[in-house]
This record gives sequence, C-alpha cells and structure tokens, in this order.
Amino acid sequence: MESTKSHGRKQKYIFVTGGVLSGVGKGITAASIGAVLKAQGLAVSIQKCDPYLNVDAGLLNPAEHGECFVAKDGAETDLDLGHYERFLDEEMTQKNATLSGRLLSELIADERAGKFGGKTVQLVPHLTRAIQKSIVIAGHGQDVHIVEIGGTVGDYEGLSFVEAIREFALRVGRENCMYVHVVYVPFIGTSKEFKSKPAQNALNDLRGFGIVPDAVIVRTDNPAPVSIAKKIALFGGLPETSVLMMPNVDSVFRIPEGIANSTLMDLLDSFTGETKEPELSGWRELVKKQRAKKAHKAVIGLVAKYTDNEDTYISVLEALKAAAWDENTELEIKWINAETAGDDDFASVNGILVPGGFGTRGLEGKIAAAGYALDHNKPYLGICLGLQMAVVAATRKAGLKDASSTELDPDTKHDVVYIMEGQAGKESTGGTLRLGDYPAKLKAGSKIAEVYGSEKATERHRHRYEVNQKFTKEIEAGGLTISGTSPDGKLVEYIEGTNHPYFVATQAHPEFRSRPMRPHPMFVGLIRASKH
Ligand code: GLN
Repeated sequence: MESTKSHGRKQKYIFVTGGVLSGVGKGITAASIGAVLKAQGLAVSIQKCDPYLNVDAGLLNPAEHGECFVAKDGAETDLDLGHYERFLDEEMTQKNATLSGRLLSELIADERAGKFGGKTVQLVPHLTRAIQKSIVIAGHGQDVHIVEIGGTVGDYEGLSFVEAIREFALRVGRENCMYVHVVYVPFIGTSKEFKSKPAQNALNDLRGFGIVPDAVIVRTDNPAPVSIAKKIALFGGLPETSVLMMPNVDSVFRIPEGIANSTLMDLLDSFTGETKEPELSGWRELVKKQRAKKAHKAVIGLVAKYTDNEDTYISVLEALKAAAWDENTELEIKWINAETAGDDDFASVNGILVPGGFGTRGLEGKIAAAGYALDHNKPYLGICLGLQMAVVAATRKAGLKDASSTELDPDTKHDVVYIMEGQAGKESTGGTLRLGDYPAKLKAGSKIAEVYGSEKATERHRHRYEVNQKFTKEIEAGGLTISGTSPDGKLVEYIEGTNHPYFVATQAHPEFRSRPMRPHPMFVGLIRASKH
C-alpha cells in the first residue's frame, strides 16, 4: 500500500477482536468496515495479526486452514488478506500479515546477536512492542488503520496481541483507538431461544484484559430479537447504540451497506470525524447483479483434491462467481474429486477448472481432465498445477507415454514439468518457491493476449516446478501452444489449446487479482465459453 495517502488527519486505529468462537466472519467484518471508510474517501489500510507460532502461512495445510493467499511481494498469508483485497481493492504485502512466529523468531535472533545488552527478553514488553511496531509500520500514512486479531480473546497464544493493542491506546491516545468486538450468539433449537450468555462472558473476558469495546458486533445465524442486543448492552455496560446485530446475509457484499445503515456508522463517523455519506453504489450494483435472474447457466467442474472445505479454494471460487455475475450467468460448481475423476464427470459439466495444488495425490485425475478438455473442445482453465498437468496430458498424447512432472514421478525420462537447474535438491526447504508478482510477455494474436486485451501481464506466483521447454515440439504436437513466457523467454507462463474454443492455462494464480467488481479476464473467458 502507498504510504502517503492520508489527508493530514490524526491517525486512527480500529482493532477488531473476536469472542465466543472464531470463524464467524471477523475478517469479513473488518474488511467491510474498511470498505465503508474507503467509500467515504478515507485512506484505509488493514492488517491481520495471527497469534500462531508459524512464521507464515506457507506450510499450513490448506484443508485445515483454508487457502494460502499470496500477496504481490510473495508473502504467503492467511485467506483473510484475500477478503481485504476484495473488499478494499488494495494490494496487500507482508506488512499486512503479522504472525507471532515471525516476530518471535526476529526477537530470538536479536537476543542471540546480543542486542538486548544482557537484559531478560520477555513477552511483555518485548513481544508487545514488536507487535506495536508492526502496527505502526503497516498503518503508516493512512487515515485509518484496521487491525484484526486472529482467534478469540482469551486464547493463550493471543494474549500478547490483546495486551499490545490495549497499550496501544496509551501510546497514541484512547480517542484515536476504536475497539470492535465480534461475538457470536447461538440459537438453541430445542428451547427455540438465542443465548447471549457466551457473548456476555466474552465481553467480560475482554474487559478483564483492560479493554472496554466501543462497538460490539453480534453475529447470529438468523435475525435475533432486539432484546438480545439490549441484554448484551446492559450486561456489557455499554450504550445500546454500541451493540449491532449482524445476522447471516445471503451475500457478504451486502455487509458494507449494512454497516453504513446501522448505528455503527454513527460510531465510525464520530470516531474518524468524517461524516460524508459513503459512496456504495458499486456494492449495490454488485448485489443487484448477484441476485438478478440470470439469462444463462454454466456448470463448472472443479477438479480438486480437497472437496470438503470451500475455504481451500476461496479465491478461485470468488473469481468464478464474480465472472458469472458479470456474464449474467447462473453458476453451478460441481466438485470433481481428482482421485476418482473420469470421463463421465468431465462430460457432465460445461467447463473444467483445474486449480493449483501440491503433492502427488489426484494428479492423474487432473491430467485426465486436461486431456478430456483438449480432445472434446471443452472449455478449460488451468491454474498453476492445472497448466502443468495440461502439459503432461498433451505430451502423452504426442507419444511420450511416460511424460510426467517430476513432482509426480521423480524418475521419469520425459520430465516435461521439472525443477530447473539450480533449484534441484532444495525441494523441501520451502525456500525455493517462485513467489509473488512476475511479468509475462504474451504472444501477439494469441487467445491469451485477446483475453487480457494486452501483450503483457503480471500475476502472482507460488510454485516450484516449471515447464521443460526441451519438449516444446511434443507440447505442440499434443495440441498446445506456448503463448506467454517470462520476458527473457526462459519460463513458460501461459499455454493454450491451439485449435480450441477456450483452453487456457497459466503458471500463475490469477484468482488473487480478481475483484468482485472487476472479475479476472481468464475467469470471465471460462464462463463466457461455458455458458448456454
Ligand atoms: N505443485 C506445483 C509446483 O510446485 C504447482 C503449485 C501450484 O499449483 N501452486 O510447481
């Protein structure tokens, strides 16, 4: 984010914490607050603080933790940064993602280097100061900086973060800090009542750590009676206007508008001093498009390894949805298990998407999907692994029966996807991935240049293997054209079906740059080719 956008106001900080349970939309809430403030013309930045002891999200299992979102500078982050980018339409970097593991490893390195001059090194004040420093850096130059604390208040590992944000008010002035606590109120089916007790306890916990929130957001599965808000306000010692009910909505993109029409907007106005009506027509238009009865329909088969947790592919799904709204198309996602995938699965969909992935599980299914799409003129979008498997499918078709990626078969003679020289042997270190933005030049007259409307593209990357251009002849004989490479021509960035209505694949991850109101052209292309 640029650091010089502020309008010379006093810098403000909004801290978003959670109580009762995590995973109830704290990230979306934080991002939506950001969207509303941005729509008032304020310069807004946002940061996720994760109390995990991991140094980044790169090695976290996506099935458990959801997608690893990649920022333009190559930071491997939590999927909440994807929400931030989609809601704020700003590109994040490493400084927007703070993990305790990263801060602790820096502290310990400093300790080893003798930088503490013989003093004891402690969570308070050393870790808390490091957290505060990361907040100051991430928010530098903005009008409002939003900080979301992962997990729930009271978790052991999050205590330093809670203490750090409490002290932060002493540092910059309480009037420049707004604390927003997101709690969950369950509905008990047997007695048919909403239960506010866990939320009250969560507020007590927060108060126990010295923070009295300025606003409480009450998440419920269904609309709850106002009496719940009143009760939470009463027991929390807060004015009723500080408690905002936020039931589940059919579209998360309605949340910015929901905030703008609630008492939270008044609280935000008096906090920031900006009372301008937020300009939310773009969000309204988007929701309208989303809800409209569609003229077309497209069934997209997602050939995936993890089919039971949508968060694993959240940016891909968001990009597909946004493209479908833009194309006036009702989208149906059909999950195709890569391990059992066969022709019947591929025949039953209008278009196929093979997303990124690591490891050997399900690769043959992905190769079969690409091969089927090539043979049957079925629209295909390959992302990263989806490009690599298409190259394997094509070279096998061209006669190299044992063609493979060395990720799948390290001993194959025909290593059409391989680890380039200089990288071999470092496969397990996590340090050899090609990460973040890389530019590509696109072949004039190619499908991909048409899709982008340009002969240049820059996209985010996260992969280790590359296409082996020694096999270009076979790749072409199998029906593919290399249509985009790194500017020096060394790395293959895009391929496409040579005589195919829509078969495009990229070594990059275009889903990370797709926006709800500006869907990525490669996804739009897939929907356009698949809809009927
Ligand atoms: N596993 C492949 C590689 O490392 C693909 C990675 C991906 O799809 N992001 O190159």
